Amino acid sequence: MIPAVLPTYARAPLSFVRGEGSWLVEADGRCFLDMGGGIAVNVLGHAHPALVSALSQQAGALWHVSNLYRIPQQEALAEKLVEHTFADTVFFTNSGTEACELAVKMARKYWHDQGRPERSEILTFEGAFHGRSSAGIAAAGSERMTRGFEPLLPGFVQLPWADVGALREAITGRTGAILVEPVQGEGGIRVMPDRCLQGLRALCDEHGILLILDEVQCGMGRTGRLFAHEWAGITPDIMMVAKGIGGGFPLGAVLATERAASGMTVGTHGSTYGGNPLACAVGSAVMDIVATPEFLDAVSRKAGLLRQGLESLVATRPDSFEEVRGVGLMLGLKCRRPNTDIVAAGYDEGLLTVPAADNVLRLLPPLNISEADISTALDRLGRAAQSLADQ
Ligand SMILES: *Cc1c(COP(=O)(O)O)cnc(C)c1O
Repeated sequence: MIPAVLPTYARAPLSFVRGEGSWLVEADGRCFLDMGGGIAVNVLGHAHPALVSALSQQAGALWHVSNLYRIPQQEALAEKLVEHTFADTVFFTNSGTEACELAVKMARKYWHDQGRPERSEILTFEGAFHGRSSAGIAAAGSERMTRGFEPLLPGFVQLPWADVGALREAITGRTGAILVEPVQGEGGIRVMPDRCLQGLRALCDEHGILLILDEVQCGMGRTGRLFAHEWAGITPDIMMVAKGIGGGFPLGAVLATERAASGMTVGTHGSTYGGNPLACAVGSAVMDIVATPEFLDAVSRKAGLLRQGLESLVATRPDSFEEVRGVGLMLGLKCRRPNTDIVAAGYDEGLLTVPAADNVLRLLPPLNISEADISTALDRLGRAAQSLADQ
């Protein structure tokens, strides 16, 4: 018999009842160190007092009003995002894949309004992940996500990762945008080198193409900058954000320049829940903490510690680990055993990690994780690898 919950997930037999900081408590009382952070969502850990307070205050005042009316919490959060980024304007969604939908619509509408509707094609990259909506799976194009769901939304062309030569050849008179994650998450923590991102930006400028960055996973302080593309010194025309932006409350956003957003006039897009007062009150509290130089510097410092520890794990446990990848607190260990075995062995040690493609184990801890918790995580990961070696 089919379970009451549609069985689309491979779930571990764990159910958590409480969280505090970087720790989760299982129903049976065991404590788990959360190095997955809800897949890069819990940027401030669990039950952060500022977020609890923002949410409870808003909950006592007003949960929801329609976008038929002004929503001051939404305006406040949009202004913060505009102040701290390349963007001139923001649309709020409830998830990353909804942000993908709008990014695609925005790019196409831009070219439509320029009188160039044939420039509807969007170049994307192999290994990409942009969510599970029809546009998201068509954009990523991977067989695993698209099989059985045809016909796919047309207009996407997948290219090899970080190959500017192939990209240059793929650009035609139909190309309207390039969509890329500065750091692939699901794809196995693959960092697009700065010079590739700079090359992408230059190609886009040369051909008038819109650059769309998907920072759903790598954004919101994860890499030690508010957004990952800042390391390369470039800016996109459109950017998708979600995951960390709500710190655990469902929230996403599309940020854009005035030019890229010029087609999105009254009536061209909408969302019932997108940008509702609860979500935006929490999002504002997240921004107030994350978008500060002190916080971001601390992320880089902690990232250095974690990375160093992982490098020595690779050195001491070559039977389990091959290399460290990633940037900031978005780190991956390329594994020499099935990554899912190591994730499962981690559960037995009270450690939560996340598998990714390319046999990578992902570490996406809360950005405010303590140094003590980082060393606990490294110990437990070492023990997990040891337990597999002992088998
Ligand atoms: C998670 C993710 C998405 C999809 O976000 P959802 O909120 O699950 O729809 C899109 N892009 C990237 C890079 C992601 O990591």
